[in-house]
Amino acid sequence: MMKSEEIIPVNLGDRSYEICVGSGILETIGVSLLKRFGVRKIFIVTDHEVATHWLGLVVASIKKVGLKYEVASIPSGEGSKSFYQLEGLLNQFFEARIARDGLIVALGGGVVGDLAGFAAAVALRGVDFVQVPTTLLAQVDSSVGGKTAINTAQGKNLVGSFYQPRLVLIDTDVLDTLPQRQILSGYAEIVKYGLIKNRQFFEWLEVNGKKILSGDTEARRTAIVESCKTKAAIVGDDEKETGERAILNFGHTFGHAFEAEAKFNGDLLHGEAVALGMMAALKLSKITGICNGQEVDRVNFHLQSVGLPVNLSFLDKFSGWNVDALVKHIGHDKKVLDGKIRFILLKEIGNSFITSEVDPNNVSAVISQSLEGRL
Ligand code: NAD
Repeated sequence: MMKSEEIIPVNLGDRSYEICVGSGILETIGVSLLKRFGVRKIFIVTDHEVATHWLGLVVASIKKVGLKYEVASIPSGEGSKSFYQLEGLLNQFFEARIARDGLIVALGGGVVGDLAGFAAAVALRGVDFVQVPTTLLAQVDSSVGGKTAINTAQGKNLVGSFYQPRLVLIDTDVLDTLPQRQILSGYAEIVKYGLIKNRQFFEWLEVNGKKILSGDTEARRTAIVESCKTKAAIVGDDEKETGERAILNFGHTFGHAFEAEAKFNGDLLHGEAVALGMMAALKLSKITGICNGQEVDRVNFHLQSVGLPVNLSFLDKFSGWNVDALVKHIGHDKKVLDGKIRFILLKEIGNSFITSEVDPNNVSAVISQSLEGRL
């Protein structure tokens, strides 16, 4: 039986939609889709791993209400955010005679959501899609806000579009099968919301973080709802990232550089890179005299206490990394404007701002300290 759901609106005019958070949502997904969208042909996009755990439940629920459906399953992992998989997916849509009134359901983590969302944006110039995120990271971040993308040889998320889902369905039960390392990776993005905008939430996480990680349903639900509310408010004010939305990239300018150097091979998960990146950005805030050291220590303590990495010395194989190579990756980031890199820094926990006025020597210094484990 479905228990009560919490509904968070994302206000974007005629592209507004709801995020529903609760337990038992997948069991009744067929009814929910039928009620909201009427009779549509459903195209479920998932990955092989998610399919083994959750596809059966979704399919049974869709069958129960008599909706027609097709399934496309892609290999799990970042490698699937590629032109190759995009083409394969579009071919499957067209072979199954997708029409403008089809409905694409992205059942998976950020990889499935980003790929299926982009395929939905470009198939027939736009087919409606629903996000059904199955990782903590996707539930608190990637399924909300309409950023869709694939990677190219030159970098991450370089080909994509802003294309909002019509609905986001977050079933907290799916986290039961998610490996602990992936839960922790998603937790880093939750901490980010506290750091950029909501000190009280960060303080709540200091008390409740371990409960979230150990599977406490109520704590998880509260953290997901609070994160989605924060993201929905920011996206509602600045959908295309012309201003404030950039604060959501806190920790990501460094983090993406670390991910690029790690070559997306599984040694470093996105959330782990974000945790490392947030600590680097905090340290940068400290050495530029903007944020006091106690705030930095407090975040460092919290991230370490839950088991997230705080500097690059955590994995032996990163110790040989070269500072200049990492700085070069940062220069390739999408956040470079007029040759100047934009950083998100903190004045204090819960108070972030965007700046292009950062001394490159300080950026190199912070990376060196991270590599030496001195962060
Ligand atoms: P992911 O989609 O690769 O999922 C991680 C792993 O968990 C995969 O192996 C997957 O098969 C498995 N998995 C997923 N759900 C599961 C479940 N319930 N039980 C068991 N296994 C499960 O990774 P992710 O961390 O969800 O997403 C990372 C991606 O998200 C990156 O590509 C990143 O760029 C993107 N992202 C996008 C946005 C955005 O706004 N669009 C924001 C943040 C991150």
